[in-house]
Amino acid sequence: MAKYDAIVIGGGHNGLVTAAYLARAGRTVLVLERRELVGGCAVTEEIWPGYKVSTGAYLASLLQERIVRELELERFGYHVDAKDPAFFSVFPGGRCLFMWQDRAKTLAEIAKFSRRDAEAYPAYEDQLERLARVVEELLLVTPPRFPPGSVLDFLDYLKLAGRLRGLSPKDVVALVKIFTQSAAELLDEWFESDEVKVTLATDGVIGANGGPRSPGTAYILLHHCMGGVGGHRGLWGFVKGGMGAVSEAIAASARAQGAVIRTGAAVRRVLTRNGRAYGVALENGEEIEAGLIASNLDPKVTFLRLVEPGALDPEFVAAIRNFRSEGTSAKINLALTGLPEFTALPGAPGPQHRATMHICPNIEYVERAWDDAKYGRPSERPLLELTIPTMYDPSLAPAGRHIMGIFLQYAPYTLREGTWDEIREPFGDRVIDLIAEYAPDIRSLIEHRQVLTPLDLERRFGITGGNIFHGEMSLDQMFVMRPVAGWARYRTPVAGLYLCGSGAHPGGGVMGAPGYNCAREMLKG
Ligand SMILES: Cc1cc2nc3c(=O)[nH]c(=O)nc-3n(C[C@H](O)[C@H](O)[C@H](O)COP(=O)(O)OP(=O)(O)OC[C@H]3O[C@@H](n4cnc5c(N)ncnc54)[C@H](O)[C@@H]3O)c2cc1C
Repeated sequence: MAKYDAIVIGGGHNGLVTAAYLARAGRTVLVLERRELVGGCAVTEEIWPGYKVSTGAYLASLLQERIVRELELERFGYHVDAKDPAFFSVFPGGRCLFMWQDRAKTLAEIAKFSRRDAEAYPAYEDQLERLARVVEELLLVTPPRFPPGSVLDFLDYLKLAGRLRGLSPKDVVALVKIFTQSAAELLDEWFESDEVKVTLATDGVIGANGGPRSPGTAYILLHHCMGGVGGHRGLWGFVKGGMGAVSEAIAASARAQGAVIRTGAAVRRVLTRNGRAYGVALENGEEIEAGLIASNLDPKVTFLRLVEPGALDPEFVAAIRNFRSEGTSAKINLALTGLPEFTALPGAPGPQHRATMHICPNIEYVERAWDDAKYGRPSERPLLELTIPTMYDPSLAPAGRHIMGIFLQYAPYTLREGTWDEIREPFGDRVIDLIAEYAPDIRSLIEHRQVLTPLDLERRFGITGGNIFHGEMSLDQMFVMRPVAGWARYRTPVAGLYLCGSGAHPGGGVMGAPGYNCAREMLKG
């Protein structure tokens, strides 16, 4: 039987980060990826001839600077172009709002809707930045033991509290609020214009199982401010070569350190003996041994499918079953023969095509979109976030052609009536009709269309319930509670088996943090 020091099950970006750090520390490492390409949700796929599409994740910001630096990702081709403008929102009646990298330009735009909001915006942004800086320090740490059992455990909590030292009492209150409030409540405290509020609120509901008025969505908004591009916090950007280039760069860095990466190698079982993992069995029957195993798969797949049922305590299994991981997002990818013209800003190309383009005119619209999903219906009028990566990297499509990614909320995994296989294309048509209300020529530009419902995201990427974060990012499933209380330190009840994917702290997004933290814990032995 082949033998390695460590096996990483799954070649998503987090699994690759774990492999790269283990290899750098001198361990022999094997990554086993089910698909023919690495990257998991962060991939570039040529789904139509000449079109290289980021089928899942589409924007970068969260990947931790430290990982980029230590794994020398730029040497392996990683490059991000920061979006500018950041946002372009369209509203009924031909109005629109831009947000730019340049604060003065953004303030002038906000003032079109409310002078008061333009005055409030710098303080809002500065506060969010101060809070993000504190929370960001927790991303690359292992959560303390919970519930705490010894004096030493309590000391870990004190050390954490010490990180709040730099914050004013007002900011501490703001921090507590942001963990508990809804995105709408947070924004109501700062702004009066619905147009401004909804433009900022979208980050609070992306990937969330909740509407802008659901408690906890304010934190998701902050989670989206936890990174940057080229050292500039809060910026998001397009990766040259598509999102797969992030994963390819991490894979190249891991290989350069000696890691072996096998694709088309689906793992069927984690092999255990006397409560300890000693290897894996592949779908093709092959068995490979290792003293350390990391699973990049989500907690449900890892513990309910890969580990022998008898190897886990029933209480732990019940807790994993209760881990909420149904998604509400869908992605539609389009190949376009040209750029759509918005009624609100005719002409193409224009700065609007370089931004994330929002179709969701106000907070109530988004809340109603969520209301549909609560009762098992895809939103009648969903929140749409459109991006055109070919504006930054024309090599992704044939000359003169474009790719449009449509990320949308809400598409509940569990439908009350019918199946996603039945309603996939009619739902896709509805989304295109909605875009056509603001950009009437869109239909005539579509050359190809791919609709990925939550069921398709589950099938394609192997993520339970199509949840883009491997599990909801709600307060009861975060930090010391991720994936479940007592097991948030990357170790699992099976000795030698670790969790290195987004189902572990600090959660989802192309961040690399769970993979980094897991490698550190594995190296402690
Ligand atoms: C549609 C969509 C849009 C998104 N947009 C963004 C975005 O713009 N920006 C952002 O930062 N985040 C975004 N996200 C979230 C982000 O992409 C994910 O949270 C993150 O990529 C998950 O990474 P991971 O390494 O933890 O797991 P995954 O990417 O899920 O990787 C797990 C890997 O395990 C493999 N695997 C599964 N089963 C087996 C098996 N039995 N044997 C071997 N291998 C197996 C899978 O094929 C996969 O490669 C998006 C996600 C989706 C789905």
